Amino acid sequence: MTAAAPETIPSSTTYLVVGAGVNGLSTAWHLAMALEARGAGSGADVLVIDKTGPGGGASGIACGLSRGFYMTPAMHPLIRESFDVWTYDRVGFGFQQVGYVSCGETNQLPDYERIHKSQNEHGYRSDLYVGGEAHRFLRSVWPDLDTRGIDVALHEKMSGYSGTRQAMRGFAEKCAEHGVRILPGVTVTGYDLANGRVRRVLTDRGAIAADAVILAPGPWIGEHWRMLGLPMTLDLRYADGTLRPGVDMWTYWRLVEGEVYLDGPYLTPEGRDPPIFKMELMNTPVEDPKTGRRLGDFTYAYWKYAAERTRRPGLQGGSVPVKLGPVAALEPYGPANAGYQPGPEFRDYFAACMASRMTRLAHARANYVDRPSGGIGAFTPDNLPIYDWMLPNLYMIADSNHGYKFTGVGKLVAQHLATGAKVAALEPFGFSRYAEGRTFGKTNTNSPWV
Ligand SMILES: Cc1cc2nc3c(=O)[nH]c(=O)nc-3n(C[C@H](O)[C@H](O)[C@H](O)COP(=O)(O)OP(=O)(O)OC[C@H]3O[C@@H](n4cnc5c(N)ncnc54)[C@H](O)[C@@H]3O)c2cc1C
Repeated sequence: MTAAAPETIPSSTTYLVVGAGVNGLSTAWHLAMALEARGAGSGADVLVIDKTGPGGGASGIACGLSRGFYMTPAMHPLIRESFDVWTYDRVGFGFQQVGYVSCGETNQLPDYERIHKSQNEHGYRSDLYVGGEAHRFLRSVWPDLDTRGIDVALHEKMSGYSGTRQAMRGFAEKCAEHGVRILPGVTVTGYDLANGRVRRVLTDRGAIAADAVILAPGPWIGEHWRMLGLPMTLDLRYADGTLRPGVDMWTYWRLVEGEVYLDGPYLTPEGRDPPIFKMELMNTPVEDPKTGRRLGDFTYAYWKYAAERTRRPGLQGGSVPVKLGPVAALEPYGPANAGYQPGPEFRDYFAACMASRMTRLAHARANYVDRPSGGIGAFTPDNLPIYDWMLPNLYMIADSNHGYKFTGVGKLVAQHLATGAKVAALEPFGFSRYAEGRTFGKTNTNSPWV
């Protein structure tokens, strides 16, 4: 969504949010509400700028899944907050609470048990099914599902998805309703720093002074990091005393996704929208259902109904992202970037995962929607977000990989900004974790979404 550039921009504001993606907009909207509630200001004190406009980055092209299957327990309070944000206005945000089902093998059973326990402790309701019970549950939802090799299934009741255009429109409208100004077509070109603080944010349309800057630039975080003079490598310390020196601060991954048209309805036997389906079978290779050719050494795929972007009813989903390294060309971003599109290997793999599991998806390869999709994400050294003050007046929301699951982060950050009080759920994600031995560790999955 691109809009015409404004004629003039203000030279100062109380709060300046850089980035009109899901993180920036959720923060701006919640900040406006928090200021109003405390009688400490209003949305008029909050300005959002973006070089394109709402949804110009990762938020405009995401799969839009909001689910809580994370092996890192610190993620569960965040996803619980996000549920409240999505359900604040399900219609406005286009949130479909269909649930989410993750399937695995015995090697992940202890992880599933831990996730299930932690989710329920944080009020994010899920059910766990093991062995034959898992098969019975799965067949009750998808009677044509081949459950071979599946030993465990977790059903999250509060998960769902949102169409990205609808969600972006919804968040932008919420900002407008509370008097927050969103200025599209304004590019940050640098930061005027004095005494370790941001004095002014420099843009191609003039400088803006702000009491506090909230930086939510999605995959462009590396550029801002450089402009702020922050370190491009880090020494990582883990809780067990391990030290990993000189790790790249930002690593780019290609988030691969695709769509497949449906031959018929994709509904449960009761006629409902099925949950989002995901399977990670770490010991089950993927083969071409017709030729038997091996397409991958393990199974990892997810899909959900997708009507927003497909001309015919279809499913949208993806697999494990592809690591690019510390350098990536971000422009043009997303499907417009011909250099980073999923190739035939992804199509074959994704379609084979579908066709080999559900008979109604037997023609997934022939029905694959042949058009560009996907985009790049910038991952932190431990693949989990950073929410922290990087300078005394610059708060950073660095997460181009989980934003739809974490719309609640904007609410928590706003609470922190408006009150000055620490917010417990955000504390584990501070930047100091890397130096202080609280770096998040390795988990038992082939995906970087840990
Ligand atoms: C293909 C794909 C699928 C995904 N699927 C999911 C999913 O199913 N669920 C999920 O939770 N997450 C998913 N993600 C991740 C999710 O999209 C991101 O975590 C989230 O959108 C990040 O939001 P953000 O607001 O931080 O960044 P963005 O949405 O990228 O917004 C950042 C904004 O900052 C602006 N900006 C950057 N630099 C400047 C500058 N110099 N000056 C002015 N403006 C600037 C950009 O124009 C952009 O609009 C997916 C991502 C991709 C790419």
